[in-house]
Amino acid sequence: MSIHIRGVSKKFGSFQALDNVSLEVPHGTLLALLGPSGSGKTTLLRIIAGLEWPDAGRIEEDGADVTDRHARHREVGFVFQHYALFRHMSVFENVAFGLRVRKTPDAEVRARVDELLHLVRLDGLGNRKPAQLSGGQRQRVALARALAIRPKILLLDEPFGALDAKVRVELRQWLRRLHDEIGMTSVFVTHDQEEAFELADEVVVMNQGKIEQQGTPDEVFEQPATPFVIDFLGNVNVFHGRVENGRAFWHGVPIAYPDYPHAQARPARVYLRPHELDIARLAATGSPAGQNPNHSAGEEPSLLAEVLRVSRSGPLTRITCQPHNSSGELHVDLPTATARDHSFQPGETVAITPRNVRVFLPDPEYVI
Ligand code: ATP
Repeated sequence: MSIHIRGVSKKFGSFQALDNVSLEVPHGTLLALLGPSGSGKTTLLRIIAGLEWPDAGRIEEDGADVTDRHARHREVGFVFQHYALFRHMSVFENVAFGLRVRKTPDAEVRARVDELLHLVRLDGLGNRKPAQLSGGQRQRVALARALAIRPKILLLDEPFGALDAKVRVELRQWLRRLHDEIGMTSVFVTHDQEEAFELADEVVVMNQGKIEQQGTPDEVFEQPATPFVIDFLGNVNVFHGRVENGRAFWHGVPIAYPDYPHAQARPARVYLRPHELDIARLAATGSPAGQNPNHSAGEEPSLLAEVLRVSRSGPLTRITCQPHNSSGELHVDLPTATARDHSFQPGETVAITPRNVRVFLPDPEYVI
């Protein structure tokens, strides 16, 4: 089932929780709503579920307007962060709940619950009470319960938020397989970008009740559409620079930026990801502009910097440098094996060359 969200707005008192949000979730997609706390993810999920009503806009499922239809009358399953199982009921009865409400015949309930317990790898645990399960097992019961009614849409709100890191990783891989097997349309809320990027076909980044970007994990990561997205994804070097004549200037070093061919200089924010910087050893030359004077024609100009620290973090090694003409720090990430080969040492001079740069210009009326 496909979901269309058209121009949805929602206020709580005077607070604008959602502001004219439009989004399409094609049939069979696993979509992540990603964003900081308070950005409106849960509110949007609850509106898709039929647990909350928008002030303006519409929700369509397979082209039919369901905006005013309550959750009970939509074919939607939910899983929340706190699994909210019925404590006094067995695992079996928890999973059976939605079927019992729908007065499904006993034999059918048994067959369906057994099938689901098998699917979530909890065979043989049907007689236990929720308190006798681990957190990961309880969350799988919650999923089985949501799936019992054969929903066309599965909505998950931080489903793995309460679990430890190892169980989270296992469960999300398992959820991905389950989603593919069942062929549902799923939307899940998370503020964990690793979770969103690993699990989802489509990622929607939200900020202050609006969508900043929608795209595949690769699109969002490789082509962040706004400064907010790149800042939110984190792990990036940010500098104030300027653009003019088809070039962006980063600490005085020119980088090709054909998107701005104009002669009039404008302030810009320059973003460089640590793994997209090349670093090479160089004897100190005392170049006053901090530029590498040794680069030959056709080569990208590089920035001279002093190595401050070298710190290993598993497969990556981070080299923290200080550009010669600035007091800020610059991070470069190298595969640990490469860093070991080069053996960069604090105090030595290196030349840093960006392989990729992202430049954002503030609005024209914005003055730095
Ligand atoms: P989190 O990741 O912290 O769950 P979120 O992105 O899911 O955040 P929402 O729960 O959608 O954010 O909330 C968006 C904003 O709307 C928040 O500022 C929240 O305080 C506010 N809000 C949500 N529900 C209500 C409500 N029932 N009454 C008043 N304000 C609300």
